[in-house]
Amino acid sequence: MARLVLATHNAHKVGELRAVLAPVVPGLDPADVVSAGELGAPSPVEDGLSFAANALIKARAVCAATGLPAVADDSGLAVDVLGGAPGIFSARWAGSHGDDRANLALLLEQLGDIAPEHRGAQFTCAAALVTPGGFEHVEEGALRGSLASAPRGTNGFGYDPVLVPEGETRTCAELSPEEKNAISHRGQAFRALAPWIAKVLSGEIA
Ligand code: IMP
Repeated sequence: MARLVLATHNAHKVGELRAVLAPVVPGLDPADVVSAGELGAPSPVEDGLSFAANALIKARAVCAATGLPAVADDSGLAVDVLGGAPGIFSARWAGSHGDDRANLALLLEQLGDIAPEHRGAQFTCAAALVTPGGFEHVEEGALRGSLASAPRGTNGFGYDPVLVPEGETRTCAELSPEEKNAISHRGQAFRALAPWIAKVLSGEIA
């Protein structure tokens, strides 16, 4: 029986969360962690003004709809020279939600004249935990790097083909999924949240 629900319709993210929780929650059954999609929970309007606010909106909605402790994440790319944009608009920067190719093309065009030393940016992720008892906790993670002038690599999604993490020569889309998880904003936020989730699953927090 499900004991924790992740506010996503993306099965890949559920696998990631299970992998992060496994070492922190001994004996965790994969069936304990399910996606909101599997439970038919609705997706709320994400009208918050920060990653943390949007993650909380999603976690609260899914917790209310399912009666289970809920985890949600919200993430995006913040470009220094654009004052932190696309930020919470990352998924729909070019207009239509989730058009990764158009979003990436528009961003590269906007940064066309910007020299390599001024192309700093970071992926940021907020991960929120909300319980039926009213407990709420948010953790954030960031992956800093610099933006390449043209896309490279075929792994990942979104802006992965242009972000070169600090200390790397490869873009995120040239890293293996394991290499990216080990340093990613989402990996960091989920790992920081994991001890809190463990307390909820053990009954220490209601
Ligand atoms: P979401 O939080 O999964 O909805 O992601 C929002 C948007 O941010 C995505 O559509 C991507 O454009 C961007 N984004 C977030 N995380 C990543 C990442 O790890 N790689 C590339 N793009 C990302």
